[in-house]
Amino acid sequence: MDLENKVKKMTLGHEQGAGAPCLKCKDKCEGFELHFWRKICRNCKCGQEEHDVLTGNEEDKKVGKLFEDTKYTSLIAKLKTDGIPVYKRNTVTLTNPIAAKKDVSIKTVTYEWAPPVQNQALAVRYMELLPKEKQPVAGSEGAQYRKKQLAKQLPAHDQDPSKCHELSVNEVKQMEQFVKKYKNEALGVGDIKLPDEMEAQSKEQGKTDAGERSTTVAVGSVAGQPATKYACFRCKLSMKEGDPAVYAERAGYDKLWHPACFVCCICSELLVDMIYFWKKGKLYCGRHYCDTEKPRCAGCDELIFSNEYTQAEGQNWHLKHFCCFECDCVLAGEIYVMVNDKPVCKPCYVKLHAAVCQCCHNVIDPEAQRVTYGKYNWHATPDCFLCSCCGKCLIGQKFMPVEGMLFCSVDCKKKLMS
Ligand SMILES: [Zn+2]
Ligand SMILES: [Zn+2]
Ligand SMILES: [Zn+2]
Ligand SMILES: [Zn+2]
Ligand SMILES: [Zn+2]
Ligand SMILES: [Zn+2]
Ligand SMILES: [Zn+2]
Ligand SMILES: [Zn+2]
Repeated sequence: MDLENKVKKMTLGHEQGAGAPCLKCKDKCEGFELHFWRKICRNCKCGQEEHDVLTGNEEDKKVGKLFEDTKYTSLIAKLKTDGIPVYKRNTVTLTNPIAAKKDVSIKTVTYEWAPPVQNQALAVRYMELLPKEKQPVAGSEGAQYRKKQLAKQLPAHDQDPSKCHELSVNEVKQMEQFVKKYKNEALGVGDIKLPDEMEAQSKEQGKTDAGERSTTVAVGSVAGQPATKYACFRCKLSMKEGDPAVYAERAGYDKLWHPACFVCCICSELLVDMIYFWKKGKLYCGRHYCDTEKPRCAGCDELIFSNEYTQAEGQNWHLKHFCCFECDCVLAGEIYVMVNDKPVCKPCYVKLHAAVCQCCHNVIDPEAQRVTYGKYNWHATPDCFLCSCCGKCLIGQKFMPVEGMLFCSVDCKKKLMS
């Protein structure tokens, strides 16, 4: 059985991307170091996707694996050396004729990804219809955006059991079935076409398959723009004459999108490389599609294929992963405090996050009663929550806060403040 083999091969590749800078923390992170089981950096605690971890080649292998055993095999090539499928990413390089006039060196623009269409002008027009900061021009903010979305929307650990941590043989089997299912039922790659051409093509086909496509909707035109009769499925506005639209086979060719509207219905991010998942009339990115099908562990970010897991704080967790975000101690049955949506054990909380009493300057135990006003905290005891002037206990009384001080009356305030 080759299952045994796969289990043995499981590694998280802790060397992979080691030392890569954090794009968010910049100099504050010493460089990427993968946490033992969380998909975060041990140094700065940001996610993998914030670090420039995967090389282009590794990304192409990840996407290649996604397209393996699907109808999109035309987008991949198998490496001769080891038979690993690699994504044949379409890149486009343009020379800029305007810059070339004055410049001695001819200025070029390379798109790290472009829609794989014959008509290059259409691909370039598609790019122009995306927000500038999202156009994947090599070396630009847009290229970084694409890289980050590749990591975020298509986590390797949502498709490859060997990228998951300590799965049982049964969990590996379940995951393989799950991946097979979404490849068959949901995964797709968008296609760009001119709506008029698409309609002509559909009519052509309609002759043979009884013309079931009563399709386009009449829509109002946008002022100053020559509008067409085609409306975007997301924003409902019309397409502009001569502009390409995105089509998704799984959605049916009666639907079309503005290039900038081809986004995930949950995160609203552009579907990276037009890779979509279609379910019940909605477009999802890979991550958010998987989230509709399986619980995801808030600790390790992997989908949960085991029946045993826990729910806490509105999130799902592998039993062994409901741990302190600071020291990784297991929190089952322990007292913990939520800090920025992450559970933290009591000792770490006291050490790193606890509120200090404005009166006695001691840490306030997370289980103790406290009074919070603005950024100030007090023990809710007669010894600490009292008038700064006369010492009267203010619990359950009206009080006047001034900076970190408390007063029982205008008189006391005047006495101390004058
Ligand atoms: Zn960081
Ligand atoms: Zn880091
Ligand atoms: Zn639209
Ligand atoms: Zn999404
Ligand atoms: Zn987990
Ligand atoms: Zn801890
Ligand atoms: Zn106190
Ligand atoms: Zn007083």
